[in-house]
Amino acid sequence: MADTPIPLEVRNIKKRFGDTEVLKGLSLQARKGDVITLIGASGSGKSTFLRCMNLLEQPDEGDLIVHGEEIHFKQTRHGREPADWKQVVRMRAKLSMVFQSFNLWAHMTLLENIIEAPIHVLGVPRKEAVEKARALLDRVGLTERADAYPAQMSGGQQQRGAIARALAMDPEVMLFDEPTSALDPELVGDVLKVMRDLAEEGRTMVVVTHEMGFARDVSSQVIYLHQGLIEEAGTPQDVLVNPTSPRLKQFLAPKY
Ligand code: ADP
Ligand code: MG
Repeated sequence: MADTPIPLEVRNIKKRFGDTEVLKGLSLQARKGDVITLIGASGSGKSTFLRCMNLLEQPDEGDLIVHGEEIHFKQTRHGREPADWKQVVRMRAKLSMVFQSFNLWAHMTLLENIIEAPIHVLGVPRKEAVEKARALLDRVGLTERADAYPAQMSGGQQQRGAIARALAMDPEVMLFDEPTSALDPELVGDVLKVMRDLAEEGRTMVVVTHEMGFARDVSSQVIYLHQGLIEEAGTPQDVLVNPTSPRLKQFLAPKY
């Protein structure tokens, strides 16, 4: 289907905080079913890049095209801003983000967390939203936890719940920012399993991760960032097995 819009295109994104330019011109194209993993040292700009993709941060320069729709910006006294926040709301509904700190809303049960946006952003009838939420809970192995509050759940359960919440929006692209980094080691596997399943079923995903096994197995493309630039990018085989950049080799070398 040649005329299917590309889910996400990012062109030459730049971002500075004060005097520091943290993104120095980054581009990426996520086609349908692509799983793009972003790797790099702490501080290299991975989170900022991801946050620019759904405009949690405003890029100073560069273009963003979501499902074929270019986001419009305007210059203001305060810098560059989206010209039309309604467009941003529309594009965010297509890009679901899962954070490191599984930020479910604490005052809502898991089920309420999942149905909130479908009902209030997409206008899905409550009964339908609940049915779909229960099906998603089954998928992520949380059938029994629908009525639990986040504080009553393990970190791994909360993160799988956050993934179910993201899926409830039927996103075009799922963005993950180190989704397993805050978890106890024994809880990481269940979350990665859910993410592997999503990759296998053809979800388009951009994933910041330090899980090299996951990156190797599921990525269509691996991007290594260094100080706000793409230092190396390619297939997992190229980037993770046969890296050329000395910095990347160093990054991948066993630490002990
Ligand atoms: P990573 O996710 O790869 O660890 P980040 O994108 O979080 O990197 O950060 C990139 C750089 O930008 C770091 O030097 C960080 O300190 C800086 N930075 C990130 N967010 C902000 C902010 N809101 N204000 C100022 N500096 C920031
Ligand atoms: Mg980060």
